[in-house]
Amino acid sequence: MQTLRHFNQEELLKVDEAVKVSEELVNNYFKLSSGQWLKNRYDIKTAKDLAVHEHVDGPFAQVVKYEGRKKDVPLGSSSFSFYKVCLQDSAILSIVEKEGVLLEPFLLYVLTHELVHVVRFLKFQHRYENKNEADVTFDEERKVHQLTYIILNQLSIPGLNQVFGFYKDWLIISRSGI
Ligand SMILES: [Zn+2]
Repeated sequence: MQTLRHFNQEELLKVDEAVKVSEELVNNYFKLSSGQWLKNRYDIKTAKDLAVHEHVDGPFAQVVKYEGRKKDVPLGSSSFSFYKVCLQDSAILSIVEKEGVLLEPFLLYVLTHELVHVVRFLKFQHRYENKNEADVTFDEERKVHQLTYIILNQLSIPGLNQVFGFYKDWLIISRSGI
């Protein structure tokens, strides 16, 4: 069985930085008030903190939905959805090596993409159907890629254009059609 790699300390710092930047960008884009309501509705984890069922083979990340319940209220009332963004360290590290893209902009793209999914789930623009990124409908996936591009395109970050190049098949409409 293939051993799955985990991010090392240095790579985890890059994850932290990409989380901060992507959260701010996504909050600003969707005009979420101080990001608070979103902040309590999701979490982002890397491989070392994932449960067995949160690992997936193939995608760079998946969003897993949980049902939460507020404390001190009767059972059955006031439940809420909670989303866990599960980064797949091994798949990310492999593609970074294979494609020769930089880890920082790649992480930023993946995290922004997953947060756009979460916001759209929370805003009910797209019903959560499956926990696996691979099962998201094609149209929704294209829309999320295009929003990710619009959000990140304003930045000048080394290596970001190569990442857009990697996703070019998903981005064709937004790059030429707007
Ligand atoms: Zn996606």
